[in-house]
Amino acid sequence: MTASKRVLLAKPRGYCAGVDRAVQTVEEALKLYGAPIYVRKEIVHNKHVVSTLQGKGAIFVEENEEVPEGAIVVFSAHGVAPEVHDQAKARALRAIDATCPLVTKVHQEARRFAADDYDILLIGHEGHEEVIGTTGEAPAHIQLVDGPDGADKVTVRDPEKVVWLSQTTLSVDETLETVARLKQRLPLLMSPPSDDICYATSNRQDAVKAMAPDCDIVLVVGSQNSSNSQRLREVAVDAGARAGYLIDYASEIQEEWLTDASTVGVTSGASVPDELVMEVLDFLAQRGYNDVAEITTAQEKLVFSLPQELKRDMKAAAAARAAEVAQTLS
Ligand code: SF4
Repeated sequence: MTASKRVLLAKPRGYCAGVDRAVQTVEEALKLYGAPIYVRKEIVHNKHVVSTLQGKGAIFVEENEEVPEGAIVVFSAHGVAPEVHDQAKARALRAIDATCPLVTKVHQEARRFAADDYDILLIGHEGHEEVIGTTGEAPAHIQLVDGPDGADKVTVRDPEKVVWLSQTTLSVDETLETVARLKQRLPLLMSPPSDDICYATSNRQDAVKAMAPDCDIVLVVGSQNSSNSQRLREVAVDAGARAGYLIDYASEIQEEWLTDASTVGVTSGASVPDELVMEVLDFLAQRGYNDVAEITTAQEKLVFSLPQELKRDMKAAAAARAAEVAQTLS
């Protein structure tokens, strides 16, 4: 007899408040100012989101130098170092900062501890844009600790004046392990005033942990360069799934992954639109996985308002339109 086929669908999954705000920022800027709108780096780490915005007139660049002088540039959700703002000013760019407010919070912590002359141990992945941006706030005070093994290489000036901060999208469990390793060497290491790993990252990992022990395989919809999506795949395997696969699109699912898989878990990273998850469910339904149960571990209601500089221009444009209408009617 063939085992029954079912899907467990994690909730929360997909878009977080910071990604939603960043994507809306580019969309609203395109509507307000018209194309092209320049975006420094991928606005969020998702192939589909980036190509959709390109289709609407966004131009993605690596650095400010590629943006024509005086043009509008949007900074991505991952945040930028202060020098990037300075470069934009020097080129007379009109910058709209779509940095997630929860990344900005980590920047503020870094500035504050650096001003108090602390050594700051930033737990994160080398080369990730968010880490580069946060480090840029206080390069002389910050050392990167890339995972538990990195803890052994740290040197500090005063073991009584040292604090750890972290990238927002790390594995919660691995970060606790890194902190424990650091504390073996630095017992007086201070913790951040509040969690740096954001609510969206930890909620998505909790949902996968709840679901994975009952899954043969877990499909994570997300891009290879998305830190939080990569972590979901690792968490799924650590929590008991036989295998975890990271895919951008349903078309990337390989039939052999489904061999002997009666329960397939599905989730998505914080930068993934839910339509891509629905396409995965359709793909699975066509192969007999019609029974879908949502595993809910948290409800999310957080919403961030758009960047001030954009809201100000949107308000001015609305007022100008209202004045025009009033004049036409008078
Ligand atoms: S994953 Fe977290 S820090 Fe990153 S954009 Fe989303 S809410 Fe902000």
